[in-house]
Amino acid sequence: MSQYFIHQAEAVFGFDRPVSIRLKDGIIADIGDRLVAMDQDIVIDASQCVIYPGFVNTHHHLAQSILKGVPAGLNQGLGEWLASVPYQFWPHITPEHMYAAAKLGLFEQLRSGVTTCADHHYLYHAATTPELEEAVWQAAQDLGVRFVLCRGGATSQGSHKGMQGSAIQPEPLSLALTRMGTTYQQHHDDSPFSMTRLVVAPTSLVHTSPVEDLRTFAEWAKVRGLKRHSHLLEVGFDEQMAQQKFSMSAIDYAAHCDWLGEDVWFAHLVKADEDAIQRLAQTGTSIAHCPTSNCRLGSGLAPVIAMEQAGMKITLGVDGSASSESASMLQELNLAWLIHRSQHGPEATNIEQVIRWGSENGADLLGLKTGKLAQGYAADLVIYSLASPRYAGVHSRLEAPVLCGEPAKIAYSFVNGKLVVKQGDVIGVNKTRLQQEVNEACQDLLARAISS
Ligand code: ZN
Repeated sequence: MSQYFIHQAEAVFGFDRPVSIRLKDGIIADIGDRLVAMDQDIVIDASQCVIYPGFVNTHHHLAQSILKGVPAGLNQGLGEWLASVPYQFWPHITPEHMYAAAKLGLFEQLRSGVTTCADHHYLYHAATTPELEEAVWQAAQDLGVRFVLCRGGATSQGSHKGMQGSAIQPEPLSLALTRMGTTYQQHHDDSPFSMTRLVVAPTSLVHTSPVEDLRTFAEWAKVRGLKRHSHLLEVGFDEQMAQQKFSMSAIDYAAHCDWLGEDVWFAHLVKADEDAIQRLAQTGTSIAHCPTSNCRLGSGLAPVIAMEQAGMKITLGVDGSASSESASMLQELNLAWLIHRSQHGPEATNIEQVIRWGSENGADLLGLKTGKLAQGYAADLVIYSLASPRYAGVHSRLEAPVLCGEPAKIAYSFVNGKLVVKQGDVIGVNKTRLQQEVNEACQDLLARAISS
């Protein structure tokens, strides 16, 4: 494996002076202001660059990369959008479509500064073939992204509007566990520098599985030391359904199913009230905050300032590209920094805080030794170039990439000590061919959906 010496960046997150960094054997071997290059080092000039820890995206749906801007869903809220966008197309997605979608989604994330992606993959039904999931693992391996597969799925038709309106046959619990067992054997690595992890993640806590199945999933995960994830309280419908179906609040229902704890994080939690925040904080449950998607679907704004004050770990996710067409963590950080100020004033957030949400907190949540620029941590980092008129005149150099938002230019990006982005190009990806493959996948998907 090549050994890199990143020479004197203009600004490095966590340091108040220019430092150099040596990457060796997949980790940050040295970091400091007095390092000198050694003979075996490949030297990278970072003199007009800013270095951040690689971003950890804690909620995504790669399958949706071929469902951007579907006209029927442009002006719909979550419930209707689920039915007219993801659930309408999902049964027709082939492993070839899935591979193209995953490759595109991972490409876009790498291009924005992501090095770890936790993808909530939920395309499982009674007749799913293993190739659909394999396509996702393959794409992650091909692009060199640190990858966490949050294994979704529904074991009942449930109260999910999208599921109810589609021809999808839910996956029986026993089949879900058998298939998940195979994935666990083939892909899960629980080491702190793991490149592939499995998380147990029934799609939507209130809607997609009965109580006894959720408890079984919880137990199955705990026995194997796996983390757990799901959607919760993205909109008020979760609360209504929990009251209607179980005569309790959504947060009580989560507790009732044994789905709160340090090993659990939920996407969205937009409608978490004061009681829910306290319960989540007391149990060590975390959030994947996805402000772009929440804005796009008009769901509201998650109360993450109150959540952080209560002691919750805030992490960031870009969510699927059918409701967040950018797939950019840098945009997510920029928006997270801005939007809470609009509600709570200029001291509500600062840039250092949102960078931590997008890196260290996500890594801690997933139990990975990444997300921090420190000796002994994984060599996952992103080097933004400031050598452009776009950044001329910016006084706060360290903050510039988040402050100015997209488009940003990545000079270099590393995952596990391996170069994955060079001068804005994702290594191993032919952009023209990727574009072609994705367009063909979209056309084929549309034709299949229309003819069904
Ligand atoms: Zn989601």
